[in-house]
Amino acid sequence: MSVNELYTKFTRVWIPDQDEVWKAAEITRDYKEGEPVLYLQLEDGTTLEYQVGPKANPLPFLRNPDILVGENDLTALSYLHEPAVLHNLRVRFLESNHIYTYCGIVLVAINPYEQLQIYGEEVINAYSGQNMGDMDPHIFAVAEEAYKQMARDERNQSIIVSGESGAGKTVSAKYAMRFFATVGGSSNDANVEEKVLASNPIMEAIGNAKTTRNDNSSRFGKYIQIVFSKHYHIIGANMRTYLLEKSRVVFQAEEERNYHIFYQLCASASLPEFKEFSLNSAEEFHYTSLGENIFIEGVNDAEDLVKTREAFSLLGVKESNQSSIFKILASILHLGNVAIVAERDGESCRIARNDVHLQHFCRLLGVELQQMEHWLCHRKLATASETFMKTMSSKQALNARDALAKHIYARLFDWIVEHINKALQTSSKQHSFIGVLDIYGFETFEVNSFEQFCINYANEKLQQQFNSHVFKLEQEEYMKEQIPWTLIDFYDNQPCIDLIEARLGILDLLDEECKVSPDPDPDPDPDPSWISDQNLGLVTMETSSSSLALHQGFLLFQVEYQCEGFLEKNRDTVYEEQINILKASQFQLVANLFQDKDDASSSKSSKVNIRPLKTAPKVPNKEHRKTVGHQFHSSLHLLMQTLNATTPHYVRCIKPNDYKEAFSFDSRRAVQQLRACGVLETIRISAAGYPSR
Ligand code: ADP
Ligand code: MG
Repeated sequence: MSVNELYTKFTRVWIPDQDEVWKAAEITRDYKEGEPVLYLQLEDGTTLEYQVGPKANPLPFLRNPDILVGENDLTALSYLHEPAVLHNLRVRFLESNHIYTYCGIVLVAINPYEQLQIYGEEVINAYSGQNMGDMDPHIFAVAEEAYKQMARDERNQSIIVSGESGAGKTVSAKYAMRFFATVGGSSNDANVEEKVLASNPIMEAIGNAKTTRNDNSSRFGKYIQIVFSKHYHIIGANMRTYLLEKSRVVFQAEEERNYHIFYQLCASASLPEFKEFSLNSAEEFHYTSLGENIFIEGVNDAEDLVKTREAFSLLGVKESNQSSIFKILASILHLGNVAIVAERDGESCRIARNDVHLQHFCRLLGVELQQMEHWLCHRKLATASETFMKTMSSKQALNARDALAKHIYARLFDWIVEHINKALQTSSKQHSFIGVLDIYGFETFEVNSFEQFCINYANEKLQQQFNSHVFKLEQEEYMKEQIPWTLIDFYDNQPCIDLIEARLGILDLLDEECKVSPDPDPDPDPDPSWISDQNLGLVTMETSSSSLALHQGFLLFQVEYQCEGFLEKNRDTVYEEQINILKASQFQLVANLFQDKDDASSSKSSKVNIRPLKTAPKVPNKEHRKTVGHQFHSSLHLLMQTLNATTPHYVRCIKPNDYKEAFSFDSRRAVQQLRACGVLETIRISAAGYPSR
């Protein structure tokens, strides 16, 4: 239809608006092509002369007929554009309290911030065995689809849940898992699906924390594979985790908390079996009080500890091991309270003679107090020919102490994940799996550092996976319908990914710089110059939207990163002398925890490898000690390989407001998230596959 036929009197359109993003209006006079003004009336009755120009001001988007508004699959709309998508989502959400809508192949889930009665067992049963198109959009419908396709196509499946912090990813992932536990329950081992679900409270206790965006924010990514037998009963599970936010162990911003487990322990300090931990209120510990509010509204930490312990027991973690886990956690809190006193020279420091926290730390970990005291304030410096001992300034010693605390926590976290995996391992024959990915969404803050860089890198990879999947589907559609092949202009983010991971990309530059200055300096140079115009120039050439390499920071696809701290975080070293003391712990679990991964696999784990302090000076930063960036790159690579070998299903969670307010919809926030994830592009493409529309 021509413009003259479309933009006639009474036709309704969407015009851009500052606050609402898109505002409804009605045309009051027929428009003729080429005219500079379109006469409009807004819903409040005001009239508007809307400027139309050949380039700058295109004609506004047309509104869909009311009868289509509220459709549960947006590809059914006559006009598919951003205002139509937004309007439909908003109307469904606000007027019918429908939080789920299909946008082509994506299930959009808007966080209601209110408990809805749509997740009960009867709802699971209602969705089980049904066709996706016959039922209202639901996370259970997506789960059922994955379950069905697993059997029908004899192919592994993935459910990829994305969205920003607080959008509802973890809740969605849990409901998907609950669906599988119910429909895939097995008759002979009734316990296994319960065990799979029991991994959730444990992982939340040790990997979730209160942030300003979400009271229960996951500070790690996870991909959990639920394993099925040839009869499609659950027989086990396996979990991979990504990039735990270690810095939280030693630092929390205002109104944020450390990992839940610490507060659970402190709230239970008076339990007789916890007496030996010498804990008290979380307010008394440096590492748990930096956010200045140790409480979360509606959360009872002591009660949650009971649940955590039950989950551990269900997964077969013995009481003695649970006790060891809690002991190590308590030791971290005591370590944070060890007072390091600066000496007058400014270059050395000491720990007070009777520091009770140091005593508790050493007692709980079963390590030598004098040694620990010494190596908390001194360091070894190895050159090619000699080894020196050096004093540390109090600032250096504090940094080193915090690095040690983070390291202990990270090792314990990995140990627990390993243990859960062992408990969920199956001895019977694995037939197929459904993987659920719950990973942090794209993130930008005022100041973006290494963590945001890694998170956004992961999201670029996921976006690429999504794009190529949609592209493939479209290709198939065109072939089937024998429509002449038109290439749809796709946003290709390969240049951005190359910039990060290709040879001489950012990750390489970082590692190179870490090799040049391998010694962990606890007081790093505040002005690093590892990224410079010349070396980044090599990789920026192909891409226009990411460039600008500065000494202080760099800009990568609209996000500016601050270089400060990158090297240190990428290197992530702790002092070997301190680790050696822990390796020599009289407690098996502690000693095992700190064995190098390589040592552990070569020697039988029961044999404790006590390495004396006088080890021959080693080349620091040994080859096998991979940098964080490098490790993350490898684990992402593996994840992509896994995902690409499965049939993907996408769930995109939307956070409708920043105040955790029930059923309240901020259009600006919603549009921001829709634009960021490529949903809009997809539905346009999905719709293009059906020429009748
Ligand atoms: P994310 O993992 O994306 O950071 P969560 O899944 O932890 O976010 O959700 C944050 C909070 O939002 C939850 O603790 C819960 O209060 C609320 N929420 C999320 N999804 C739902 C839902 N489907 N129904 C009710 N509340 C929800
Ligand atoms: Mg989460």
